[in-house]
Amino acid sequence: MFDYDLVVVGSANADLVIGVERRPAAGETVLGSDLAVHPGGKGANQAVAAARLGARTALVARVGDDPHGRLLLDSLSSSGVDTAAVAAGGAPTGVALITVDPSGDNSIVVSPGANGRLAPEDARAAERVLRSAPVVSAQLEIPLETVTEAVRLLAPGTRFVLNPSPPRELSAELLAACDPLIVNEHEARVIAGGGPLGDSPEEWARALLALGPRSVVVTLGAEGAVTAEAAGRAGSGDPSAAGRAGSAEGAEAAESAPPGVEVTRVPSVRVDAVDTTGAGDAFTAALAWRLGLGESLPAAAAYAARVGAAAVTREGAQASYPTAEEVAAL
Ligand code: ADP
Repeated sequence: MFDYDLVVVGSANADLVIGVERRPAAGETVLGSDLAVHPGGKGANQAVAAARLGARTALVARVGDDPHGRLLLDSLSSSGVDTAAVAAGGAPTGVALITVDPSGDNSIVVSPGANGRLAPEDARAAERVLRSAPVVSAQLEIPLETVTEAVRLLAPGTRFVLNPSPPRELSAELLAACDPLIVNEHEARVIAGGGPLGDSPEEWARALLALGPRSVVVTLGAEGAVTAEAAGRAGSGDPSAAGRAGSAEGAEAAESAPPGVEVTRVPSVRVDAVDTTGAGDAFTAALAWRLGLGESLPAAAAYAARVGAAAVTREGAQASYPTAEEVAAL
């Protein structure tokens, strides 16, 4: 029995948001709206999304020993995320300075701060937590070497889920650990290093799978997602388990897949999108959690698509994340 359903390794930011009529030119000052401070960062977003769904979740992260850091720790705790492995100090808490104009366009400056100081030794200090869940997920708003160290510390059989955002080229070691690698189109192109990806999301997924990950998910916004993995893998966290992959409701195996690779199109849920901020983080968290429960990749992705769709129907990132009851009602 694991202590957690999901452990997330990643960033935590304070998002400082000001509405403006227009952005200042160089040397100019403009007046904006009252400041709004929101908890953010891809790691914290994933952890909160999973906890909101009912997953027992821990976050491995670093914040500053400052008011923003305390705000983030409080908000994580009140969302039900275990923060015992969130270190404090070494640099100011990561901050995103966000201006929003009347058309809704954002301009963002990120100061990684403490996120950039989350070191491999922090991963080692969190080894017990990292080995206390069937699934560990990560993103790339923290140093790559810390993500790599976390992977090396995992217990055999622990499933590792990576959303490489912001994208960078990945080592063969890190790619080989991903099960799945979760990317949007832009991330897919960077991971492929400018190499050919093909003409359809199904082909992108196959091309990415050929780079070494155990499985791939390509997210397509309002168009849903595509999954790819070796044919005949069961949905459990045991990579050696063989068997028929469970089929997701409404998900169809694409006919173009070559023998040996199972490519599945996961349809989106039609909703009135209000704000897509943080939808990808909610999708990744939900997918990782459901894989840990033993679901097949297509079934977990179909559930995650419902979570992502629910998240875009409300403003904000963490504030928009649904409960399991809300996902069921969608
Ligand atoms: P990212 O933010 O990483 O680019 P996406 O925009 O692809 O990620 O969103 C992740 C997932 O959330 C999608 O695969 C989809 O399931 C869901 N989603 C996102 N936008 C919408 C939308 N407008 N309508 C329905 N589902 C959406």
